[in-house]
Amino acid sequence: MIKVEHLKKYFPVTQGFLRKKVLWLKAVDDVSFEIQDGETFGLVGESGSGKSTTGRTILRLYEPTGGKVYFNDIEITALSKEELKRIRPKMQIIYQDPYSSLNPRLTIFDIIAEPLREYGHENIEDRVLELLEAVGLSEEHAKKYPDELSGGQCQRVAIARALALDPEFLVLDEPTSALDVSVQAQVLNLLDSLQKEMNLTYLFISHDLGVVRYLADKVGVMYLGNLVEVGTLDQVFDNPMHPYTRMLLSSIPIPDPKARSLKKGVVIGEIPSPLNPPKGCKFHPRCPFYKPGVCDAKEPEMSEVERGHLVKCHFAGEL
Ligand code: SF4
Ligand code: MG
Repeated sequence: MIKVEHLKKYFPVTQGFLRKKVLWLKAVDDVSFEIQDGETFGLVGESGSGKSTTGRTILRLYEPTGGKVYFNDIEITALSKEELKRIRPKMQIIYQDPYSSLNPRLTIFDIIAEPLREYGHENIEDRVLELLEAVGLSEEHAKKYPDELSGGQCQRVAIARALALDPEFLVLDEPTSALDVSVQAQVLNLLDSLQKEMNLTYLFISHDLGVVRYLADKVGVMYLGNLVEVGTLDQVFDNPMHPYTRMLLSSIPIPDPKARSLKKGVVIGEIPSPLNPPKGCKFHPRCPFYKPGVCDAKEPEMSEVERGHLVKCHFAGEL
């Protein structure tokens, strides 16, 4: 359903005297992967690894710097603005913070009705009630405003709005990270059952490996704008081959992008600045298997160590 080929997204950053020096932040740097119909692809990595930028660039909420994205064999990256608008209902996004993604001045009814009105739907009232029911809310929530609902309820509203136009593909960008732990499981269960009922395809972005393990069929691990390992859930979690993936899985929690849970754990070494990434393999300053003269000299290629299991390391399959 989704095919991403050599996707790049660079942001210009100005620095120095009169801000004349332009550096390129390579947030997404040559990323390729596929998502099959009805599947969940989990994209994991530390904050700043380029996960969210990848999700937004796939939907062309950001214009890509290079590469191609296909949605059901349609090249998204080649569409005009009008053509993109026509296909937009099929591809939606859900953000981390439900409060800031919902307009506080609109009622829940109007929030969910907005895309329906924009695309000229009829029977809007019936459709809004149907959507509220699908996400476990009811008619009584329709008259309320976002600040009268809990975080979990607001995220359900965001999901209802994303489903309004019958999408096929959803980017879920840390959809439960801002919610209380007790509510997270409920929202994940809802996403899981909606996927089955509506045959949805998900790109599930999260720094939380536990959450990804619960929902994903395939996993991609990102580090400084690169995918460093891709495989099925079992391949990546039970037989991780990239040193970075092993580090992530070695029971050390990754800091939440929201600083509040930073206390929970410490990651080995700092993530280097994406503005000035290390030469060769970008992971080499943190890698326990680093070989001087090899790892810092040449960027490793992605190699297929077993069917569907890709690893970007000079010593893939040997460590
Ligand atoms: Fe580590 Fe070298 Fe492999 Fe990079 S290429 S992950 S530095 S062993
Ligand atoms: Mg993010």
